[in-house]
Amino acid sequence: MRDPALSAEVLDLARRSGVEADDVKVNDASTRTTAANAYVSGLAGSRHIVLFDTLLRDFPRDQVRVVVAHELAHVSERHILKGSTWGAALAVPGFLLVFAVVGWRTGFGAAGRDRAGCDLVVRRLAIAAAAATVISAASAPLGNWVSRSFEREADWTALSVSRDPEAVIGLHQGLVERSLGVPDPPAAIRFWFGTHPAALERIALALRYRDGEQ
Ligand SMILES: [Zn+2]
Repeated sequence: MRDPALSAEVLDLARRSGVEADDVKVNDASTRTTAANAYVSGLAGSRHIVLFDTLLRDFPRDQVRVVVAHELAHVSERHILKGSTWGAALAVPGFLLVFAVVGWRTGFGAAGRDRAGCDLVVRRLAIAAAAATVISAASAPLGNWVSRSFEREADWTALSVSRDPEAVIGLHQGLVERSLGVPDPPAAIRFWFGTHPAALERIALALRYRDGEQ
């Protein structure tokens, strides 16, 4: 990271977020993607905050800070661990449901070693694959609901660490303009596909923080 002032600001954000980090590095992501992001890498002992060069290139400094604060909040709130715990917890009933569907369609008896037994196994595998596909599609809204609640929590924590609601508002306005995104997609789209809150919702959260502060 060639900008020592920004590096110091990022490390200060990490300290206030309660995330241990030793230094700030830049990932030359622009060779692979236009997406802008930041993450924390490494285990305890030597941890780096890594910023995509696209983030530094395409966003003003105050917006870089709030993006970093948001990613740090995911770390301090342990969202990856919580997310995989949720995933594992949902996988158990999902698996039981697949098992039940297969049993409902083909019975629970053991398959014989003959031709008919072989056909039965193939049929069961096909039914299991179809059931798993339907169940995972049907449960996507639940996973997305969990994801949105994590994102909201990270947004709020980031606001209280960065104390810069104006930068958050500018960030989301800019993202909508740049990607020609829809600031306020229909409820059904949000329900089925929304891994993040809608831009308008995120801006509203920043306004709530700003108004609560004054
Ligand atoms: Zn996030």
